[in-house]
Amino acid sequence: MEKKNIQTLDKAKDAMGTAIAEYQQKGKAGKLRVLSEMFDEDEIPVDYLFRTYEKMPDLEKKALSLAKGNVLDVGAGSGCHTIALNELKKQGKVNVDHLTAIDISELSCDAMRAQGIEDVRCVNLMNPTFGDKYDTILMLMNGTGIAGKLDKLAEMLNRLRELMNEGGQVLIDSSDLSYLYEDEDGDLDMEMLEGDYYGEVTYRMCYKNVKGDDFDWLYADFGTLKTFANNCGLNCELIQEGEHYDYLAKLTKQ
Ligand code: SAH
Repeated sequence: MEKKNIQTLDKAKDAMGTAIAEYQQKGKAGKLRVLSEMFDEDEIPVDYLFRTYEKMPDLEKKALSLAKGNVLDVGAGSGCHTIALNELKKQGKVNVDHLTAIDISELSCDAMRAQGIEDVRCVNLMNPTFGDKYDTILMLMNGTGIAGKLDKLAEMLNRLRELMNEGGQVLIDSSDLSYLYEDEDGDLDMEMLEGDYYGEVTYRMCYKNVKGDDFDWLYADFGTLKTFANNCGLNCELIQEGEHYDYLAKLTKQ
């Protein structure tokens, strides 16, 4: 049997964490480069990782408005959603209790603590030694990515199910990448239908002299997420569609 990946990141190879740490400490950072054989080189503006509620896309604002009870922010990065949610809580706009943020990046976790987030744990979502039960689990900025590959999606959904309270919910966003494979008539390219699932991407990130390892990142279209969720005993409801083939979904126990 394949060994489960329940690792955290090696600091020396943690490009995004280094960028987040630097931005948190200095208020500015260099270029966070995203490389993939499938796309041209891209960049994640590091300040975007520190976005405030006002700067968040509507799907993320919607997700925060639906949060309730004890909340787990998975792959929290700089902690932007936990911070925004804590603000909304103080303003009495959401009915949330305790907030927990997790990430596999120790550097990002340190940056979250430095911003005053109290309950931060550097742990892999898939690590079975971690976890309580939560009323809301946030998986934002392509939450299905954490599964890595389509054949790992069921494992991730089962893990999420384990972490959900009765009546709990997972708020997760992703995108349908099929638009990348459409020809001028809007028909799908046959090559896409023959290979692996079209939402499977391999990325590598680089920041200054820190070069990350390749990692798998899954974009699951809504239909695929729903099919897998249903097979894991979860309902999957489409909450809202975004402006660029993206969507927010809510998973609850059946
Ligand atoms: N949610 C944040 C960050 C998104 S980037 C935002 O919207 O800005 C994805 C984050 O998930 C990274 O910080 C990465 O370190 C973390 N991550 C990736 N795999 C993970 C896993 N298995 N468990 C926990 N965190 C993970």
